[in-house]
Amino acid sequence: MSFFRPALDSLRAYVPGRQPDPGARVIKLNTNENPYPPSPKAVAVLHGLDADELRRYPRPFGDEVRDAVGRVVGVDPTWVLAGNGSDDLLTMLVRATTGPGRAVVYPTPTYVLYRTLAGIEEAPVVEVPFNPDFSLPVDRLVAADGALTFVANPNSPSGTATSRERLGELADGLRGLLVVDEAYVAFAEEDALGLLDTYRNVVILRTLSKSHGLAGLRLGYAIAHPSVLEGLSKVKDSYNVGAVPARVGSAALLDTQYTARTVERIRRDRALLTTALESLGCRVWPSQANFLLVRPPGGDAARVQDELEQRQILVRYFDEPALTEVLRITVGTSADHRALIDALRAILGSTPGTSP
Ligand SMILES: *Cc1c(COP(=O)(O)O)cnc(C)c1O
Repeated sequence: MSFFRPALDSLRAYVPGRQPDPGARVIKLNTNENPYPPSPKAVAVLHGLDADELRRYPRPFGDEVRDAVGRVVGVDPTWVLAGNGSDDLLTMLVRATTGPGRAVVYPTPTYVLYRTLAGIEEAPVVEVPFNPDFSLPVDRLVAADGALTFVANPNSPSGTATSRERLGELADGLRGLLVVDEAYVAFAEEDALGLLDTYRNVVILRTLSKSHGLAGLRLGYAIAHPSVLEGLSKVKDSYNVGAVPARVGSAALLDTQYTARTVERIRRDRALLTTALESLGCRVWPSQANFLLVRPPGGDAARVQDELEQRQILVRYFDEPALTEVLRITVGTSADHRALIDALRAILGSTPGTSP
């Protein structure tokens, strides 16, 4: 006997990366948070909030966020829909477009939540493996004919990116919606915004969780043609963006100088960390995100993750067939990297009889 739909009983729940208790002394390189604090201007807005504002319901469409995105990104606010993190928008997209007989399609390995959300709606899932070099298998994605096709770009956990031109070929071939999940785009060389001028079926998703140091605030947004956003809005919670995220997030979005500075630091440290890991014999994939996909010598990723955790350093290991030999390591501060490299040197130096 179950209280739930059979599809839910057999669904594997999404398992987020470990979140230690606040104040725990760990080096946290497992969930791609920003190592730097949010914009001081956003923090000032948080401290100045009038509690009376919380007595009333917030704006149903987070108008302040739409205006801020409009200004920063250079689109009309009617092309913007805000969400309780971009996960909220992913949920809305899957609810609004899929179901039995209406497939969700994406290249793998990628963000595991796509599979979970499809399972909840009992939608068929077509997983198309990336090419070995993580280039996008456009023809096979088109052939899968999804009601909804997701491409995380830059992709997680590979960190690799697909050009706007290639994504345009995909959008052109698809009958359903193409969602370009740009959670990490601030760290990349190119975005897909220009596709919106040509393709009505493209939705761009962004979040303040990684680039703006505000994963705890919960704010993300979609950019798409207003007719697409209208359909999506039918399945959204009436008040899906709280007053606090709307106020604080808008201030963070508008402080573009601060974001540019922290992003630049992370990109610089990404290059330094890549070199340091390579000098330990690790294979590191070229990354356009704020993390690295790393194969330790010998491919002994599970053991290395375990031993790092014993030293209070958290990195991400995925219990997935295609990812057994790799770790995903968030770019942190240079102090985080010194600790990581010291620990890895000790761990790899003590490897019992493995070969590269
Ligand atoms: C982190 C992440 C998200 C979720 O972002 P939130 O705004 O925190 O919900 C979405 N997509 C990808 C690929 C991510 O890595």
